[in-house]
Amino acid sequence: AVPVALVAGLSRAAHFGVLIKGARPLETMARIRTLILDKTGTLTDGRPQIVSIDSHGGMAEDEILRLAAALDQASKHPVALAIVAAARARGLVLPVPSEVAEIPGEGVVGSVEGHKIIVGGDAFVARRVGRAEDDHAALAAGSVLVAVAVDGHMTGHLVMADPLRDGTAAMLAELRREGIERILLATGDRVDVAERVADGLGLDGIRAGLTPDQKVLLVLTERKNGPVMMVGDGVNDAPALAAADVGVAMGARGAAASAEAADVVLLVDRVDRLGPGIEIARRSRRIAV
Ligand code: ADP
Ligand code: MG
Repeated sequence: AVPVALVAGLSRAAHFGVLIKGARPLETMARIRTLILDKTGTLTDGRPQIVSIDSHGGMAEDEILRLAAALDQASKHPVALAIVAAARARGLVLPVPSEVAEIPGEGVVGSVEGHKIIVGGDAFVARRVGRAEDDHAALAAGSVLVAVAVDGHMTGHLVMADPLRDGTAAMLAELRREGIERILLATGDRVDVAERVADGLGLDGIRAGLTPDQKVLLVLTERKNGPVMMVGDGVNDAPALAAADVGVAMGARGAAASAEAADVVLLVDRVDRLGPGIEIARRSRRIAV
């Protein structure tokens, strides 16, 4: 039987919008040593705005955006949703893409109006068109860099801004008070972008350019030092959430796959509910034992 204090804890947490899937994750939450945070959509707001569109071969900005958005209609990645929304806001009509293949957390490949389009992270697209990664000066203004290739040529970059969620620094301080010893940022994005986002947050480390499998490896490595909590929002985070002692999904806007793989789902779109969640877990455990 589950002790009454744990049941009360689960229900108090749910009241805060923290859905904990049972007594065991609640109990484990009280013992977390290491916290691994995904970047886009977890630490950041996850609704990036376009700051600028850089054309490399003379294609009009709106045309670059139109082709990228047409293909990104096939993706539920937060960056893809933002690109589609930005194109629609400019009144662009988006054709339906064909032969679409999404590589989760990296980008999408497909065909639009007979042209082969690749949209995704700069490293991903650069690799596929045989070009070096962009040394992007304009990125100083933003925090997400999306590359667009058309018929094998790097045609443009979308520089986007994705601000940190409000209260992130305060939340991290609270988690340290609740006994978390080590806080890491894990992202599929570029290291320079990750460093800029993490600047001033006092994190214990940044792991960038990670594939979904590498996020899993990071979780498994960190587990050698004690229980690990991993927080993420994307389809690409689902395996890492499942590998963690406690996986936490950003449930309100995150991918359904991440909510399914998680032990804890934040039903409200606020990562700062983690602090109260852990506090409740620790208190329930003290009463229950
Ligand atoms: P994080 O791990 O920080 O949540 P992701 O690994 O999900 O970030 O994405 C990293 C980067 O890959 C994004 O910032 C974006 O540049 C690019 N990206 C991934 N999927 C897409 C997509 N469908 N459309 C455009 N860009 C994408
Ligand atoms: Mg993410």
